[in-house]
Amino acid sequence: MRKIAVLGGGQLGMMMQESIGEMPIELHFLDPDPLCSAKAVSEHVTLGSFKDEETVMAFCADKDVITVEIEHVNLQALYRLEEMGKEVYPQPAVLECIIDKGLQKQFFADEFIPTAPFELIDSGKEALKAGWKPPFVLKSRTGGYDGKGVQVIRSVSDMVKAFDGPCVLEELAPIKKELAVIVARSIECEMVSFPVVEMDFEPELNLVRAVLSPARIPDEVADKAREIAETLIDAWGLVGLLAVEFFWCEDGSLWVNEVAPRPHNSGHHSIEGNVTSQFQQHLRAISGMDLGDASVQGAAAMVNLLGAAGHQGKPFLENEELLKKEPKAFLHDYHKSETRPGRKMGHLTVLSEDVESALEKALELRKKLNYVKSST
Ligand code: ADP
Repeated sequence: MRKIAVLGGGQLGMMMQESIGEMPIELHFLDPDPLCSAKAVSEHVTLGSFKDEETVMAFCADKDVITVEIEHVNLQALYRLEEMGKEVYPQPAVLECIIDKGLQKQFFADEFIPTAPFELIDSGKEALKAGWKPPFVLKSRTGGYDGKGVQVIRSVSDMVKAFDGPCVLEELAPIKKELAVIVARSIECEMVSFPVVEMDFEPELNLVRAVLSPARIPDEVADKAREIAETLIDAWGLVGLLAVEFFWCEDGSLWVNEVAPRPHNSGHHSIEGNVTSQFQQHLRAISGMDLGDASVQGAAAMVNLLGAAGHQGKPFLENEELLKKEPKAFLHDYHKSETRPGRKMGHLTVLSEDVESALEKALELRKKLNYVKSST
């Protein structure tokens, strides 16, 4: 039985635990929240900060493998653990490169990975001085997530809101579709990529509405995306998962947008939609097992279930009983102790014969499945 330390006990950790099945491994989580998602499914949750060097050192001392379910952990501790001979995946040097969007983009450029043309600047406010004319995109080098660190500057007047801090300044991509590929690489350097998925967007709000699997794109585009994802994970020598987000541009080219070295929102459908889920694949890769078959078992649509506007407090999911009549709809509740407007509280995957009908059913159910404040 191998003991794996997981830094973070959020929903990704919870779904790792749920994917273990017969694998000879035991997961141990470190999280500062006594009511984190992993707590609902595991007895091995230690309370503490994954950002504190000595807490991480003490927690990992008796574990065989160390992994993360969130990028913002104490890197110094990970380097020390690696030096002591522990298996740390993702490797700290890769993690350090990925958490800084500037270093990440520079790596793409150095490895000839196609990406939006860019420049690194000390402050977003200096974009015009650097000779750029709108439209362009500003990305805060560190700390951004779920679109919060991204600004589309469409005109000079938008510059009043420009980030005041180190940024990636990049061309606005002429996007036809946003795609993603999750690729796994094992300790033995075996690589398996999941079939490409497609992000479906809210028509007006420009927010991701659903993840559709498989993507409705020509085979040659899918093959190219998987090839780029495999080139990238191999170039980093990363052991574990790499989620690679792409822009498929109007002229047919594929640009890598950004990556994450862990299970990702764009792979949640794989729990029911693929032979092996992304969570099990991650655990296989980092614990020295052969990788699983990642192929699609059925068309799938995955929607995030967010906390309803105007509700904060103990969560209650409205209309959950509707799912009893939907054998191909799978709810994953993240067991969070508090709902807040827009917080990711769970997700729903619907399988169907094609992605259009899966999407239609997922959206119909999502309208009724609201996380509100419990009245009890
Ligand atoms: P985050 O890390 O916060 O998810 P992303 O880099 O994925 O940030 O950007 C969020 C969204 O912003 C993308 O999904 C895309 O819709 C849009 N976006 C980001 N970069 C560009 C770009 N260069 N051109 C056009 N749209 C972009």
